[in-house]
Amino acid sequence: MEYKKDDTVKLLRDYPTSNPSIVVKKNDIGRIKAVTEKVIFLEVVIGSNRIDLEVNINDIKFVERTIEETEECPICNSNDIDYGVCVPKGEQLFYPWKCNECGASGKEWYSVEFIETVCDEIK
Ligand SMILES: [Zn+2]
Repeated sequence: MEYKKDDTVKLLRDYPTSNPSIVVKKNDIGRIKAVTEKVIFLEVVIGSNRIDLEVNINDIKFVERTIEETEECPICNSNDIDYGVCVPKGEQLFYPWKCNECGASGKEWYSVEFIETVCDEIK
């Protein structure tokens, strides 16, 4: 798959950093800042440290893609997407989606804003 800026990825092996007391571990999660042909520039947050890491493209696994709008599949850009029924989760809700082209699926999240309370007519 093709990685994009702001994708969330998981590391598949330990990575040393420029600070010898900090090692980025296997299964740590990072956010992609830039993508080149073979090297991915990641930002990994460990405790209060934000670490910039240069990793091999084969040493990461895709976890999640955050996008502003999903009129098309975030993986293959197809418009052939089916949406499921809205599922409320507290003050947010999501629509499950599935791409009929590549089989990717996910959730499209919305925030819910309270407007007003209205009473039914009293009989
Ligand atoms: Zn797709």
